[in-house]
Amino acid sequence: MRSLRLLLLSTPVGPLGSGLGGGVELTVVNLAQVLARLSHQVAIAAPQGSVLPDAIAALDISLIQMAGNWQPIAQSQPRSAPIAVGSALANAWQYAHQAQSQYDLLVNFAYDWLPFYLTPFFKVPVAHFVSMGSLNDALDAVIAQVVVQFPGTIGAYTRSQTQTFANLDPGQWQILGSAIDISHYQYCDQPSDFLLWLGRISPEKGLEDAVAAAISANQSLQIFGKVENSDYWRQIQSAIAQAPSHLSIDYGGFLTTEQLQKSLGQAKALLVTSHWAEAFGIVAIEALACGVPVIAYRCGGLAEIVRSGETGWLVEPDDALGLVDAIAQIHQIDRRHCRQQAETTYSLAAWGDRFEQWFDSILFGKITA
Ligand code: UDP
Repeated sequence: MRSLRLLLLSTPVGPLGSGLGGGVELTVVNLAQVLARLSHQVAIAAPQGSVLPDAIAALDISLIQMAGNWQPIAQSQPRSAPIAVGSALANAWQYAHQAQSQYDLLVNFAYDWLPFYLTPFFKVPVAHFVSMGSLNDALDAVIAQVVVQFPGTIGAYTRSQTQTFANLDPGQWQILGSAIDISHYQYCDQPSDFLLWLGRISPEKGLEDAVAAAISANQSLQIFGKVENSDYWRQIQSAIAQAPSHLSIDYGGFLTTEQLQKSLGQAKALLVTSHWAEAFGIVAIEALACGVPVIAYRCGGLAEIVRSGETGWLVEPDDALGLVDAIAQIHQIDRRHCRQQAETTYSLAAWGDRFEQWFDSILFGKITA
């Protein structure tokens, strides 16, 4: 494929590297990396304060900083939330409009109504990567309009994510999955005696279930992640205060990707206890890459990632006792199988190929309005 000039428009809920954007941040950075390695010219427009990891500093990726407010996260809003006027998002799309002649394709990562609404006003094609399941009525409606006018231009992580959009035919989506740079994740065969929980600290992530399960299973728990909702975090801290003193339920703050890559492998298992259908769940593949089995509720993307009995255990959603049983069975999982699954299914190379094919079909395929 010839070299493309690509503009990736990142999530407007926070700067790259802040953790506010959750897994989309890593998706944007990893995609920029793999596309640059495939000799495409890659630019990222992202909220002011964004940083790229040192590991990709040698690649020629331009980072365009967008001033302005961050959007509220859609998970914290009602389905009928009014359309927010957010200037980092508006500024990014204003820049994209002014500079569109410098690019062959724009790639939208904002889970927001605005980029879909603006799509017909651009001369350059827009590919939309939708990073979550259905959460907002206005967004559902505008995605459906874009699909009619520009078939083949919407992508998603997983099949189960697309099934949450009741107004759209599942066949209209490109399923792209996710990937990580496995070589940077340190495999660990001999774990220490603690469980791990990773993610944005926000009610939909269900951290309280992981804390309760760890206490019931008499296991220590290490928590890392960005506190997104302080009231929720105070409730979790009260639950942690009830833990018996011989257990360590420790919050270690928000780690950079590089720090995670070095330290995840020590854990006996990762608990993913979300109350919503995760579109994907990148923390699960990061853990697998380090040889860490994943115990997760059988819901959303996690149900597509975890091979129950082979690379972790799937537990019925919100069944806290089921988590405790799974923790007791974790020794049955061979950590080498976890690493192997990450290597064979979530490598950057195969993922980059899927995106190239998608872009190719949008730019050169017979997609007609
Ligand atoms: N993460 C991180 N530092 C932490 C905890 C989590 O960088 O201390 C990152 C993690 O690597 C992953 C993201 O946060 O990229 C969480 O993504 P996931 O898809 O699991 O959930 P989301 O937040 O998108 O709902």
